[in-house]
Amino acid sequence: MERVDYLILGAGPAGLTFANLLKRNCPEKSFLVLEKEQEAGGLCRSKDVDGSPLDIGGGHFLDVRRPKVNEFLFSFMPEEEWNVYDRDSRIDMGTYEIGHPFEANIWQMPQDEQVKYLKSIAIAGCNLDQPKPEKFVDWITWKLGEKIAQDYMLPYNGKMFGGELDSLGTYWLEKLPNVSFEETLLSCLNRKPYGTQPGHARFYYPKKYGYGELWLRMAEALGDRIKYNAAVKEMDFAQKTVTCADGSNYAAETIITTIPWKSISEFTGADDAFRSCVQALKHTGTEIRYCEKTLDTKAHWTYVPSEKKAHHRILVRSNFCEGSKGYWLETNLNRLSLMDGSVPEKTTTGEQAAFANEYTYPLNTIDKPEKIKEILSFAKERGVIGLGRWGEHEHYNSDRTVERAMELFAALENK
Ligand SMILES: Cc1cc2nc3c(=O)[nH]c(=O)nc-3n(C[C@H](O)[C@H](O)[C@H](O)COP(=O)(O)OP(=O)(O)OC[C@H]3O[C@@H](n4cnc5c(N)ncnc54)[C@H](O)[C@@H]3O)c2cc1C
Repeated sequence: MERVDYLILGAGPAGLTFANLLKRNCPEKSFLVLEKEQEAGGLCRSKDVDGSPLDIGGGHFLDVRRPKVNEFLFSFMPEEEWNVYDRDSRIDMGTYEIGHPFEANIWQMPQDEQVKYLKSIAIAGCNLDQPKPEKFVDWITWKLGEKIAQDYMLPYNGKMFGGELDSLGTYWLEKLPNVSFEETLLSCLNRKPYGTQPGHARFYYPKKYGYGELWLRMAEALGDRIKYNAAVKEMDFAQKTVTCADGSNYAAETIITTIPWKSISEFTGADDAFRSCVQALKHTGTEIRYCEKTLDTKAHWTYVPSEKKAHHRILVRSNFCEGSKGYWLETNLNRLSLMDGSVPEKTTTGEQAAFANEYTYPLNTIDKPEKIKEILSFAKERGVIGLGRWGEHEHYNSDRTVERAMELFAALENK
């Protein structure tokens, strides 16, 4: 059995960052990364489809907000290799489009529509000092009013979270844009958005490649310290070992796990309480499907609340990936049966055009904070540390994931 100081499960942004920090700063430490796929990058991978890169885990943009993170990432892929864009994202309202977030862009609607939305927000629970609800689904109407809830937020989120809307809590909502009623009124009066804008207001995307190129370069820097096609199936807390689907075993002083807890089918040395916490974690999956037509829009992406369409988001590749054409659809796996038959799974030249990802969004269910806290503390006491989107079951973007890996490395290695 191979034994190392650090065994890192998963070669997505979290695992790649932690491993590269070890390699650069702790030459005396032995480590190995186990990755179930044939290549690194996780949800941030890209593949060439119809002559240009396609982000097969969904549209991925590097936020400009974390300069220390970006400085580290640019050491693998220099800043000159990236374009910078100011976000142009829209909401498809059927007969017209408005900018995102909805409540900051009502001013872009026909005037009679503006009046209906403003009336509805004016009597939303938060503006009448009613208590904040515990469930996300109730919070939507409380914060934004009945009309935005019915026309956009409930159908859009219902599509994206594929039937799990009812189980979500409200403790994670700092992720969403925050626009007060006063700011919505000001935006309608002055015909421009007000309030806190969402993430990726300004972002980087590679000039010549897909987002996946960055992570391929980070993987390359690790050489043979990544083992591919190594799907971890079992974890033994007492021995600090893991077993892969092919029967290979690895032991470590410390295990850093960035893979979904639920993807591990057997935990030896765990109690029933731990197992039931793992089973309580929920997630959704998403399909990415390429379409060859080039859309006549300047938007980078568009949110689609209409129940009649299976997909919830359109990514207009031709507007952020230099020299490319076409766009892709993002659809919750539970809604694939509703997919319009005119969107094929292959391109006209027979290339694979549809990519299904089982784990895309860790769900912020009402009981999640308590469950993941128990999982992480049980594991940590046994030398196993959860990191990243799946290890911590947090809705992190890749820049935050990298930052988490940097923080963990600094804490463990004092560097
Ligand atoms: C649709 C969508 C859009 C997004 N858009 C953005 C964006 O615009 N900007 C941004 O910064 N972030 C975005 N994100 C978030 C980004 O994808 C994550 O922050 C990032 O991928 C998290 O990295 P990670 O290493 O924690 O997890 P992952 O990327 O999921 O990596 C986990 C790795 O573990 C491997 N693995 C899984 N199970 C096993 C197993 N049993 N054994 C071995 N290996 C295993 C996987 O193959 C994978 O390589 C988006 C995510 C989604 C789903």
